[in-house]
Amino acid sequence: MRTPFIAGNWKMNVTDREALAFVDAVKDRVPSNEEVESAVCAQALSLKGMTEKAANTDLRIGAQNMHEEDYGAFTGEISAPALTSIGIDLVIIGHSERREMFNDTDERVNRKLHAALAHDMTPIVCIGEKLEEREANRAGEVVRKQLEQALQGIGPEQVKGCVFAYEPVWAIGTGKSSNPEEAGEMARTIRAYIRDQYGQSAAEAVRIQYGGSVNSENIAEYLADDDIDGALVGGASIKVDSFLALLEAAQ
Ligand code: PEP
Repeated sequence: MRTPFIAGNWKMNVTDREALAFVDAVKDRVPSNEEVESAVCAQALSLKGMTEKAANTDLRIGAQNMHEEDYGAFTGEISAPALTSIGIDLVIIGHSERREMFNDTDERVNRKLHAALAHDMTPIVCIGEKLEEREANRAGEVVRKQLEQALQGIGPEQVKGCVFAYEPVWAIGTGKSSNPEEAGEMARTIRAYIRDQYGQSAAEAVRIQYGGSVNSENIAEYLADDDIDGALVGGASIKVDSFLALLEAAQ
């Protein structure tokens, strides 16, 4: 049995003061990690303070991105060693906003994934098709290609530690969520790809989240599918009550 994993992606929408107040408000109210794993991925400047506040609780704090190199002349970037030095071991990789606006190509996503795994971090690898690709019946093909490129050089034991977030680009931040049947079908496409490439035990181990306009009203419909193991949630993860409602629905 895979433990459901609900992760918030706050993007650039939460100030440091708000982030710290959020952790104070939820840290003792999240379910135990054995039941439901919970995390919020915040702006880099808040990660240290949040991690200190969430210490010894079941709330995990994650980064929204990191650079593929450990050190170097990359002004403004954040590295895996810097993140792990403050206790961050969770990172979103290849979010569609980064793919679209910040040149996170499939090749860079692959390099970031290698860096995260080399530093024993849990990567949430985002994949998903654009609207025109879905309309052209190419969603499965697009996602398999993204997986193939993201996973170049990654071994079966490493892949077991990856979380995959299936996020159709047209559903992110739009209020237009994918219907649960389609999301479940795509989760099966992802798991089948992992099975083909890495075998049954890897396919059973990886957790697959759905992301795209998930909220406390619709989350249960996604989690009812055996192949959807959680959600990556943007807008509905920012407010304390709404985040706790997501976790409650996952219990
Ligand atoms: C996301 O940012 O990954 C996301 C799914 O956003 P939203 O839930 O707001 O659609």
